[in-house]
Amino acid sequence: MITVEDVHFSYGGREVLRGVSLTLDQEILALVGPNGSGKTTLAKHLNGLLKPTRGRVLVDGMDTREHTVAELSRKVGYVFQNPEHMFFEETVFKEVAFGPKNLGLSEAEVEERVRWALGAVGLGGFEERTPYSLSGGEKQRLAIACVLAMRPKYLVLDEPTTGLDWKAERSVVEVIKSLRERGHGILLITHDMDLVLELADRVVLLRGGRKVFDGPVEDFFALNLEEYGLEKPEVLLLAERLNVGFVRTVDEIVRRVRP
Ligand code: ADP
Repeated sequence: MITVEDVHFSYGGREVLRGVSLTLDQEILALVGPNGSGKTTLAKHLNGLLKPTRGRVLVDGMDTREHTVAELSRKVGYVFQNPEHMFFEETVFKEVAFGPKNLGLSEAEVEERVRWALGAVGLGGFEERTPYSLSGGEKQRLAIACVLAMRPKYLVLDEPTTGLDWKAERSVVEVIKSLRERGHGILLITHDMDLVLELADRVVLLRGGRKVFDGPVEDFFALNLEEYGLEKPEVLLLAERLNVGFVRTVDEIVRRVRP
């Protein structure tokens, strides 16, 4: 479990996290909130990229202030927004192998991890391609593979579907679902309320560096989201009009209205 306890953080003199607490277990926790509310700053605390000015973060009991990012990234993988800017190797294989090689693993073990990670994101067979030749969705999945090869228990995904077309988005969503099934704990930063509805087990809402909601998805969507500049998914608007209660998909609506 990751435990964030009363974390405060300032850039220079400006406080942008003001006493945030939360936990992340084997689940998909959606982290949402307006631009500038502190989502990325908070997420960077999970693998020690940032350390709290006050409060603390424990990753399976390890206090992030007492461990390096290198140590923590074996536990918490961070997939950045626009990950293609991070690629620097000539081939997909080398890109995914980079992290495990730095762990000092044997060549056989590195290869085993690369094949496994590429398989997990549906990129088996892409080993010799150059990262730049991949489509948007494939690049996003490659970025996830790079992090998975470190075998982290937890993952931070920062806007993993932004800018992707429908098909690419679906492929990334399927990968995220399979990661949950494998027992990873996932912090999902997103603006996309459809994605929250489809994937999240729980939602944390930030505003102005403070946590203003933490609870189940159903309770989150019962909030007045406009107040936070967020839009309710179409599926839920339709469900309200048909008075069928909380649903996640159109199929569920259909099942409830059919006699
Ligand atoms: P979000 O991810 O919710 O959009 P951020 O965590 O990126 O929010 O930013 C929170 C606040 O901190 C914003 O006001 C932003 O301008 C500020 N901020 C983010 N990164 C830096 C930085 N490196 N230096 C100074 N201020 C920053």
